Amino acid sequence: PRAERYLSRELLPLQHERRRRPLARSPERGQEGDAFMSLSDIYTELIAEHSRSTENKHELAGATIKERGHNPSCGDEITLELIVEDGKIKDAAFTGVGCAISQASTSMMIDLVKGKSVEEARHLADLFISMIKGKELTEDELEELDEAAALENISTMPARVKCAVLSWHTLDTALKKE
Ligand code: ZN
Repeated sequence: PRAERYLSRELLPLQHERRRRPLARSPERGQEGDAFMSLSDIYTELIAEHSRSTENKHELAGATIKERGHNPSCGDEITLELIVEDGKIKDAAFTGVGCAISQASTSMMIDLVKGKSVEEARHLADLFISMIKGKELTEDELEELDEAAALENISTMPARVKCAVLSWHTLDTALKKE
């Protein structure tokens, strides 16, 4: 289908980038059959999977915070909804439209910050944004970002940087109000 073709064209540049260093934790998923998949293939797969996933993409009943984010350079629009209680993110979800990178990044972010304290989530948003802006993170810092570390190579694709950081800036703005 058309959407699939568009998606693979969009993610293709990621396959030509080599990670400077492997993550300590190697994801098992993506290694299918006996064909060896490189780390960048696994990451491309992971990003594609998240961009199609609807697990975190829905309205959130009882949301205590709602924050809209917009990236006019690509047309990405998200509404992030959070349930924050006692300084903790009890639940999170999003709705919106946008490119595969923006959608995948938002889904990965929600997986990461659900259950975390407001303080920890803001720290993770800082880390992620620094990574995408080209700062070299330590192994420990990359591990803190879990699957979202798969987006590291976006830092070498200036046109996609705003797509990747949109949801994280939106989260940070939302949590500042807490
Ligand atoms: Zn985008």
